[in-house]
Amino acid sequence: MTISLLFKKITPFAKPYKNLIFYTLVLTLVGSFAAQINAFILKYTVDTISDLMVAKEPLSRGMHLIGIISAVLLVKEIVYSFIQFGQKFYGEKLRIFIARDFSQQIVEKILTYKMAFYTSEENESGKLQTRIDSGISSLTRLVQNFFIDILPLFANAIVALVCMFMANVYVGLVGLAVIPIYFYISQTQAGKLSGFRRQMRKYRESKNNRIINLIDSILVIKSFVREPEEADRHEKIQFEMTENQMQTRKTSFIFDSLKNFIEQIAVVAIIVLTAFLVLDNQITIGAIMFHIMLFSNVSAPIRQLHRIYDEVNDALIYSESFFEILESDDLIEGSGTFIPDKIKGHIVIEDVSFEYPNGTHALRDISFQIKPNQITALVGLSGAGKSTVINLLDKFYEPTAGRILLDGVDLRNYDTKFLRKNIGMVLQRNHIFKGSIFENIEYGKIGSSKEEIVKAAKEAYIHEQIMELPQGYDSGAHLLSGGQQQRIAIARLFLKNPPIIFLDEPTANLDAIATEQIKNSLDAIKKDRTVIIISHSISQIIDSNEIVVMEKGRVVEKGIHEDLYDHRGTYYKIFSAMANSLNLDKISKTLNH
Ligand code: ADP
Repeated sequence: MTISLLFKKITPFAKPYKNLIFYTLVLTLVGSFAAQINAFILKYTVDTISDLMVAKEPLSRGMHLIGIISAVLLVKEIVYSFIQFGQKFYGEKLRIFIARDFSQQIVEKILTYKMAFYTSEENESGKLQTRIDSGISSLTRLVQNFFIDILPLFANAIVALVCMFMANVYVGLVGLAVIPIYFYISQTQAGKLSGFRRQMRKYRESKNNRIINLIDSILVIKSFVREPEEADRHEKIQFEMTENQMQTRKTSFIFDSLKNFIEQIAVVAIIVLTAFLVLDNQITIGAIMFHIMLFSNVSAPIRQLHRIYDEVNDALIYSESFFEILESDDLIEGSGTFIPDKIKGHIVIEDVSFEYPNGTHALRDISFQIKPNQITALVGLSGAGKSTVINLLDKFYEPTAGRILLDGVDLRNYDTKFLRKNIGMVLQRNHIFKGSIFENIEYGKIGSSKEEIVKAAKEAYIHEQIMELPQGYDSGAHLLSGGQQQRIAIARLFLKNPPIIFLDEPTANLDAIATEQIKNSLDAIKKDRTVIIISHSISQIIDSNEIVVMEKGRVVEKGIHEDLYDHRGTYYKIFSAMANSLNLDKISKTLNH
């Protein structure tokens, strides 16, 4: 990222606020002229007083002068206060507006991205958040400082330098000579610091990420009594950060002293030069103060130069990954345009292979059919590729080879949003949002009436339990048990009413009683739809019309339960293992007893 590229990227965000920027610029220009008034007044005062001192009764004649000076300075300060207020206020307004636009745009953008974006390692939730946050804050700080600090100070400096040249060319040259030296030192300083800052960014990201992980896995940490190890790990990164911070400060202080030294040399040079010119009668005595004050207007902004470099550098570093996220157009989910009147749900998977972006070969040349309005079970050991099939059917990913047809049309041609509106999913753990039960069910069809919500809840066999809660449908959905949450998710699906349903181990996280309780709701949602179920529950597998057996990314067997069992292959092995784990002998003995 370069500065010009950075500005080019920020420009579209600043465009809507053209007027605001224009007012700020006008105020800046007026302000930079007003800032020089003190120097002129002081020169005039010193010269007039030194003339008066040789005349008789200086005090009575000088009172008039003091009155004028006070009035002019007072008016100038009042006007200047307004200018500064306007400048700061408009600058701040610009920052707030642009910050809002940045965060809105990036959220809107990442919502359009493919699943691969969210599952990639560099976008783990903590890291992604830090990248977005620091990008926005450094960019908005840059915008704000540009209008509040950088621009006014530099406008000031240029006007002051012009005044110095107009007063005396040699003095102007001394003032001018300092600038490139300052630039050089500040640039070297910024260059030396940028490595440290880049490193710091990495530390911050991984520190945040670690703290999030720490909270996520606190149960494991505590149960294995790994607190000291976790603390040590944190301490290590903390020590590295401290070392980095100390190096940064040390470098800064060395360069600051150097710059201070140069500035003082310039002040002395101006005093000596002006004193010489005054003594040589080339200029009046008032010029000494005049030149020094003008020079302080020149040096003030360049004293800030390294800070500005820092900020620009921060923006360069942090905005890099921000814009990378914002501009990853290749990550935008593709979509076809095909929208049929109705989806029947006949799915044909033809020679499909799939590789995840990280290189995992999850599916290898699989082919099978899913008949409409039937229940198809995908069976296989963990890692066989069952969930991957569902990921492909929902167009979260596209097959690397082969094709998937839905009612005879390639899935790629379907309008993605339309497709997803026609597919419902029940997962191991369905996401229940913070909010009431009502809101959580309503997510299936925003704007549903109370009657529709209640109907859906009844269909999912959860209505009565909701009514038993003190606040009924207004109760927080978070407080419900796993089985109840699962039924809320099913109620949500009844509202959505899609013709195709994917069930990915819907009872895996539930105990036997909860599983028994949601059986009714599951049976209800499966009715008259095309259903694909992944399950380790024998009863759900036996209930299906068709079984597809997968092993290591391949389809190894397909058919109905009885045939597959008799075939004595993979299905037989998996099924027997499941049955044995239930300890059927003992169960049947107990039940017969
Ligand atoms: P199953 O559902 O049968 O347990 P999956 O379809 O989840 O199996 O996984 C198949 C393979 O793909 C596994 O090796 C798994 O590690 C890998 N895998 C699953 N999801 C991802 C992902 N988002 N990125 C990379 N690899 C993945």
